[in-house]
Amino acid sequence: MKDGVNKLVIIGSGPAGLTAAVYGARADMEPLLFMGTKYGGQLMITSDVENFPGFAEPILGPELMERMKAQAERVGAKLVQDDVVRVDFKRYPFEVTTPSQTVKALSVVIATGADPKRLKLDSEMRLMGKGVSNCAVCDGFFFRGKRVAVVGGGDTAMEEATFLTKFATSVQVIHRRDKLRASKALQKEAFSNPKISFIWDSLVEEVLGSSKVEGVKIKNVKTGKESLLQVDGLFVSIGYEPNTKVFAGEVELDPRGYVVTRNGTTTETSVPGVFVAGDAHDHRYRQAVTAAGDGCRALMDAEKFVEEKLRG
Ligand code: NAP
Repeated sequence: MKDGVNKLVIIGSGPAGLTAAVYGARADMEPLLFMGTKYGGQLMITSDVENFPGFAEPILGPELMERMKAQAERVGAKLVQDDVVRVDFKRYPFEVTTPSQTVKALSVVIATGADPKRLKLDSEMRLMGKGVSNCAVCDGFFFRGKRVAVVGGGDTAMEEATFLTKFATSVQVIHRRDKLRASKALQKEAFSNPKISFIWDSLVEEVLGSSKVEGVKIKNVKTGKESLLQVDGLFVSIGYEPNTKVFAGEVELDPRGYVVTRNGTTTETSVPGVFVAGDAHDHRYRQAVTAAGDGCRALMDAEKFVEEKLRG
């Protein structure tokens, strides 16, 4: 803090934000991180994490986030459990506002992530992490020798369905229309995979099972006919929504709401001094480890920016 101005404010507390905080604290940037009222990002709704380097045994998503948070605090980052409700990037120093305060910042890292879109069923939320998943790369491994269904007709659904055939005995794609939205190449790959079959014009009405997924109830939207499908897992792959509404009009967003970076190799946004890390920008890789790597890159960019500012 210099003259009431923070050197670095980080917004978001998933792997991207917390990694930026660890690097920031160690670089004497005295980071102030707004965690949001729900902290921890998508890992808070993930069960076993088996692909984060350094953990020979699986670790629960919330426990991994707890450790990242403890690490950030131990090295001196200041974490505040508050939502950012407004930012002003047109003034400098920047202003970041929560319901209880407005702080000034020489640099900002946006790490607010994205949320997978949901079917908005109570049963889907109840069985999340118990057979319902939004990420085949993260959870596909647990469905070796099992039957799964994938909801969606876009590129993500086709990629996830194809990926899941490595483990599952059958993958049924449930799509609400009779045509896929996915690219021709991904469609072709899915159509030619003998383990994948399609259920057209259908919506999932309920996920069945008490402590784990045992099936899904689906309804054909053309005939109104309901049927039950016995599966052990349901992958909801109907797109993502970046958590960037608060930045609209302040940094450039693409038409889907992802923060645009100025060039391919740095984390700079359209506003010098504002950087982005993780899923708020990255709709391609979306992994905890890539988000963490991005948090490190954003911090290094922010540190260089602030050093140059302070040097005058
Ligand atoms: P998307 O293209 O928006 O597709 C979402 C799919 O889910 C659509 O088929 C949609 O149905 C369906 N859907 C949406 N809401 C639904 C609901 N409430 N209930 C049932 N179905 C629902 O999303 P995405 O597949 O995640 O792709 C997002 C972007 O990333 C796209 O631009 C895509 O090209 C890109 N991407 C590219 C690659 C690649 O190039 N390898 C891989 C992944 C993603 P309708 O078709 O009826 O709308």
